[in-house]
Amino acid sequence: MLTALRQADGRKVQAGHSHRVHGPFRCAGCGQPALLVKGAIRVHHFRHQAEPGDCVRSLGESTQHRECKQAIFTALQATADVAGVELEKDIGSNVADVFAMIRGVPVAIEIQRSELPLDVLERRTLAYHAQRVHVLWVALAGEEIGFSPYSPRAWERWCHATYGGRVYYWTQDDELQPVHFEPHWLHTPAYTTRDAQGQPLTVGGQVRRSKRYRSPNHGERVAISRGFRPVVRREWSGGTVQVPQCSLYVDCQPAWWKPGESPV
Ligand SMILES: [Zn+2]
Repeated sequence: MLTALRQADGRKVQAGHSHRVHGPFRCAGCGQPALLVKGAIRVHHFRHQAEPGDCVRSLGESTQHRECKQAIFTALQATADVAGVELEKDIGSNVADVFAMIRGVPVAIEIQRSELPLDVLERRTLAYHAQRVHVLWVALAGEEIGFSPYSPRAWERWCHATYGGRVYYWTQDDELQPVHFEPHWLHTPAYTTRDAQGQPLTVGGQVRRSKRYRSPNHGERVAISRGFRPVVRREWSGGTVQVPQCSLYVDCQPAWWKPGESPV
């Protein structure tokens, strides 16, 4: 987590602007003691002094998660037409990683955490909708999303279905790389053998759709502050993916893939 409460006056402070002499600090979520971690390479942050239990503020946070959160926050703060930028803002039952009013639209940016189950994703998305806040789920690429076949995780499949065939991967500052996943076709090579009677028999040669792999198709990179718009979606179900009614923040570029492909 990048923010904590200063015990002396209860003010919410950022790790990047704090020094140990400003402490002690407490977690803004659970109120437990928080330690300031300053690093030359890592993003300055706070961590729970003891085991955090089920406090959502630090659940599944990785170094990459904190780096992304700090970079998006810093970029949005420096952008015209963006106001009220806040790190780790409480919104109803949610804590948005970054919140901002972008050209008057309330936007919650949620950065992927490891092991966030789909029912939690859905619950949080519903909670933002109830608060009339448009949510933008940002994925962190565990490996480079190039052009070779890729096996999207359940989380990415859910985002892909929810955002109409787009997953947003963070690149730098507030810039995201939208990726559409096309079906990946497996070719079984054909070869000729002989059947039981010794007659020539051609085997294979079929093309089938991989259940596991998709072919990434990259759109134009787009800045959160400039290239997105608010969208309200109805409840939707496709295949194994359930999408609740939701208020989303979706990039403005038209589909860059051939239409007619399944979004999941
Ligand atoms: Zn806590």
